[in-house]
Amino acid sequence: MSTRTAVITGASAGIGAASARALAAAGFHVVLGARREDRLRPLAEELSGTAQPLDVTDAESVAAFAARVAECHVLVNNAGGALGLDRVERADEEHWRWMWETNVLGTLRVTKALLPALLASGDGHVITVTSIAGHEVYDGGAGYTSAKHAQSALHRTLRSEHLGDPLRLTEVIPGMVETEFSVNRFEGDTERAAAVYRDLTPLSAEDVADVVAFAATRPPHVNLDQIVVKPRAQYNGSRVHRE
Ligand code: NAP
Repeated sequence: MSTRTAVITGASAGIGAASARALAAAGFHVVLGARREDRLRPLAEELSGTAQPLDVTDAESVAAFAARVAECHVLVNNAGGALGLDRVERADEEHWRWMWETNVLGTLRVTKALLPALLASGDGHVITVTSIAGHEVYDGGAGYTSAKHAQSALHRTLRSEHLGDPLRLTEVIPGMVETEFSVNRFEGDTERAAAVYRDLTPLSAEDVADVVAFAATRPPHVNLDQIVVKPRAQYNGSRVHRE
């Protein structure tokens, strides 16, 4: 069988970088997209893959990225994140705009641009990394939870719209994963970010990447619709057990 190609957005760090490694190890040619090319290039070299600059909030960047993708069997919609943890009464519209642009419209733009190649592959697969925040709410989280709910709704709609087409759709739904996510959410406040993971063992980016690679390596007739993965110490977005 010829080599299958996996495109990973947000591959410069965290879950995206780990997924690129796991998919390359599973035999995929990997195409890595993100804004920080200085991080993408060495990883792409190490994995004998391709690095392409990508800003999912910019329609022109997405179009240029997609134009350079000759083949696409698997798309991992991973680029995203959270900004802030403010109650609605203090919501920062710029934070909301960033979260919606990146998680929701970013997923829409990239998916739309690569759908023709995914369908033409004869066995396309869209794997979207949403979050438990896409399925529940918590105080201070409305900007992120609303964006992740919308991203999940977009992804699940595709599952229905493409029933009968050669396209699989998997939503990977992680709980707490220790990456740069919290440092970014708290705009560089590393102490506040570290407190999120204090006295418990969170998931690693590799734990989630294992799930992504597992889903991508099932036979073509097997569709894993939704996979929820959390640390043992986490019940939901508001309740964890700390030692
Ligand atoms: P991370 O370490 O902060 O990585 C985020 C990635 O997204 C980076 O590679 C970043 O690359 C990329 N990105 C951000 N804005 C982008 C843009 N405009 N265009 C292209 N790429 C962009 O966080 P992570 O934990 O790996 O997060 C990955 C995904 O998992 C996100 O969708 C997040 O919501 C989801 N998730 C995370 C957790 C968690 O606890 N960590 C839990 C559930 C779900 P550049 O900055 O180089 O562009």
